[in-house]
Amino acid sequence: MGRRTRRPTRGRTQNTTHVKLTARAEVDLLLMTFRQQGCYFCREMHHACLSAHHRRKEEKRFTIADARQKGYPLEDVKRELAKCMCLCLNCHSKLHELER
Ligand SMILES: [Zn+2]
Repeated sequence: MGRRTRRPTRGRTQNTTHVKLTARAEVDLLLMTFRQQGCYFCREMHHACLSAHHRRKEEKRFTIADARQKGYPLEDVKRELAKCMCLCLNCHSKLHELER
């Protein structure tokens, strides 16, 4: 008894942690929106199969998955993602096979 459902807003005191989590969440949101286009070739829509493919290899600074994992700033991911197209893993592999 006496437990409140509403808690006072937290986060302001733990600024650094809060900011970090928010940045990651924003990157996730960005990637989610990106994946909503589906695969460029076969229209696969399942988010688990979709990845960001750099249209031009030479423009690639880092992989998006890596950036997300390492917590790169949103702006950097955004800039990198602008060079990418959305591909499912199958089409992605086929494309890289052609590149070889
Ligand atoms: Zn595909």
